[in-house]
Formats: sequence, C-alpha cells, structure tokens
Amino acid sequence: MAALLFSSTNGQSPAVNLREAFLRGQAPDRGLYFPEKFPTLAPEEIAAFAKLPYHEIAFRVLSKYTDGIIPSDVLATLCRDAYNFEIPLEKVYDRVCVMRLDQGPTASFKDFAARMMARLMGRFLHEDGKQLTILTATSGDTGAAVAHAFHNVPGIRVIVLFPINEISMSQRKLMTTLSDNVRTVAIDGKFDDCQAIVKQAFADPALKHIPLSSANSINIGRLLPQSVYYFYAASRLAQPGEPIVFSVPSGNFGDMMGAVVAREMGLPVKKLIVPVNDNDAFPRFLASGHYEKICPSRNSVSNAMNVGHPSNLARLVAVYSGRMDETGKIHQQPDLAAMRRDLFSSSISDQRTRETIREVWNKYELLLEAHGAVAWRGFQDWLATEPLSGLPAVILETANPAKFPEEIEKTIGFAPDVPPAMTAAIKLPEDFDRMGADYEKFRKYLIQRHIN
Ligand SMILES: *Cc1c(COP(=O)(O)O)cnc(C)c1O
Repeated sequence: MAALLFSSTNGQSPAVNLREAFLRGQAPDRGLYFPEKFPTLAPEEIAAFAKLPYHEIAFRVLSKYTDGIIPSDVLATLCRDAYNFEIPLEKVYDRVCVMRLDQGPTASFKDFAARMMARLMGRFLHEDGKQLTILTATSGDTGAAVAHAFHNVPGIRVIVLFPINEISMSQRKLMTTLSDNVRTVAIDGKFDDCQAIVKQAFADPALKHIPLSSANSINIGRLLPQSVYYFYAASRLAQPGEPIVFSVPSGNFGDMMGAVVAREMGLPVKKLIVPVNDNDAFPRFLASGHYEKICPSRNSVSNAMNVGHPSNLARLVAVYSGRMDETGKIHQQPDLAAMRRDLFSSSISDQRTRETIREVWNKYELLLEAHGAVAWRGFQDWLATEPLSGLPAVILETANPAKFPEEIEKTIGFAPDVPPAMTAAIKLPEDFDRMGADYEKFRKYLIQRHIN
C-alpha cells in the first residue's frame, strides 16, 4: 500500500507523510495539512465496533493513518494508555443522547486529542533523539489538556501562556499545579496578547536554535484522534449502516472536523450540526456564500469558542472542493449546495445559552455547561427545520460543568459536583511565572529556559 500523504490546503508546499505533518504542525506555505485521500473503513469494519471498547476503536481508526509509520502493537498500547477514562452516553429522550467528553484528566474534550498527540510526538522524538519545546497560548482548556498530556514526556518541554484575568480558577489550577517539564506563564493581558507572543516567537530568527512546535488544532495530530468518538457513539447507538445526527459546539472547528473525517472514512452521518456563539462567521457564510471573519473575536459565556476566524475552516472548505487561505480569503468557492445538505449551523447568544442550561435542567435534570448548551440549542434549531425521523442523535458536551461553577450557580442556583481528578489537582500548590504582554521579555525568558 502506498503511504498516505498529507497536502497543504494552500497547495504550495509538497505533500508529506503523517510523521512530518505532525512534527511541522503548519505547512511551510502557511496552509493546513490534510489527507490527499481518506482511508476508508468497510461497513463490516464499522459494524464490528459495536462490541469493542473505546481504545480498540481508536486503534482500528488510527491505524489506517499510521500504517508503515508506527508498529501496530505500539499504537495499540498508546491507545490503551491514552484512553483509560469513561465516555458516558446519557439518553435524554427517544434516541437523543448527550455524549460527555469531559471525563479526562482536565475535564474537557481536548484531552482526547492532546493525550494521543503527546504519545505520538514523544515516540517520534525518541526515535530521532531530538528535543522539542511546545509553545501554546490558551484561553483555558487547551493549555491544561496539553500540559497534562505532555507532562513528563521525555524530550519535551511545555510552555503555556495564559491571560491572567480571563480564565476560571479551576482552568488555571489544572495547569499551574504541574511542574517538571511544564511551565505556565501568566500574561498581564488578553488571550490575543498571548497568541501574538506565541506567533512572534515562531517567526523569530533569534530563536532559530530552539526547536519549537505548537499543539493547537492546526496540527493534524489533534484532528485525527477526534474522529474516534463519533465512531464510538454510532457503534453504541445506531444500527449497522444507520445514519446518525451529531451536534458539535464549535470554535476553531477542530472538533467538528473530527466528525467530517469520520464521515469521509465511511461513517453514515445524516446531519452535522455546528452551532457557534456570537462569533457567527460560519453560519453567515453557509447562508450567503460570503465569508467575513469577526475581528476582534466576541466574548461570550462559552469562552473556549470565542474564535472570530476558525482556523479549521480551510480544511472544511477543502473537503467541499474549495480553497480558503489562512487569512480567510476564498480563492475557490466550495460546493455550497453540498455543504448545506450535510451541515447546519446557527448562532446561539449568551441569553439563549443560559436559558438552555436552565431549561434542560428543569425538563430532564440534565446538567450542561455553556458549551454543551450551545450544542443542545443548535440541535433544537435544526429540529425546527427538518424531522429527525426516529434516527439517533448525539449532542456533545465538551467540558465538565465543574470547570465553570460560578456560571452554573448563577444560572440554576447550585454549584456542580467536582470530579475527583479535578479535586486532586486543585489541592496541589500552584507555581507559575508572570510577565507583562512584552515580547522582548518573553524572548529572554525562553532563551534562559532553553539553557537551563
Ligand atoms: C475548545 C473547545 C470547544 C471548541 O472546539 P473547536 O475544536 O475549537 O471547535 C468547545 N468546547 C470546549 C469546552 C472547548 O474547550
């Protein structure tokens, strides 16, 4: 079998294999790597998932990409090791379920991708005898997931920048209580400042001697593991070959691209619902064919989705035979009719988000936090346009309500239970550095840390 190749969405860089796509993150032409052709799973292979545990499904899906790059016994061990927590599917009514992706060590769905990525990257670096510094800016969940996943991986240092006043206390403590190869830096500024510092560091010739990589969702290594839970949900809820509906709360569109990957690999999906918060560039584009990013991004209660220009849209547009560059400019219009057939998107205001948290609690005793509530509401919006026709539907809850106790308490009057993994982390002493939003200072800091 010929090796699977990944080409850049900008079409100007040569295609590379998984390993290279992984270690580079972004393609040299600033595009995103994406498989030239998706490997597929036969209907019988998908039907067999019904009896398999999650880590085994992960192994069977991911081995389609790692063939010839990672020995299969190694991949099987990595999957077993990475996916050692529950993935609850809670029935709400009829065949409508909520899938809770919040049981990992940092209580957000980002654990799924970060844990696999850290293991694969650790292995690649070990093979090469190399060292790498992962530099990440976070608005809350990514930093914690990445810091936990890469904690004590040999050959890797992690530096996470976060805006001191923009994240919740539990989000912060899930990063700052780690030490060893993980450093967290509180920036006196906004998330945008943190991201600007990281971008500048990647482009800085004075740092050329420090091998840097990123762990955000432009990396294909984060996307592929996110296709697995869609197969998993269908294996538990759908009959063989029966199509399913997913609703995925979306910011950078990495999570929803996992569903697109699953579908391209052969999973029957009736509709993929991708609700957003006030950052509504995508639903507007789907309706009008005209793309205009939101700049600066709008703040909202679902803070992990405050993204004005979703970086993974370039990949989505590519799936529909179009081309969008990293700035959001469309060079070739995608097949909009096909996009509208497959996808549905609506924008959910903070008011509707809070109403939804209250409504689903009162009606079903189902506790959702803001991101899951956006997914629930988006599903309801879609139901108003098309019947579900008795098919299974899965609404993704992407974070644990305990990460946002103040907001939940304000909305429904009590604070959510804290899962044991979070309680443990929160008790440990915090240790982090702090600096102003000043790139020169950060550069000195990075060089200093590289020597020590
Ligand atoms: C990151 C995040 C999202 C958005 O996921 P994207 O892949 O950026 O679309 C949704 N919910 C939570 C809790 C998140 O942390």
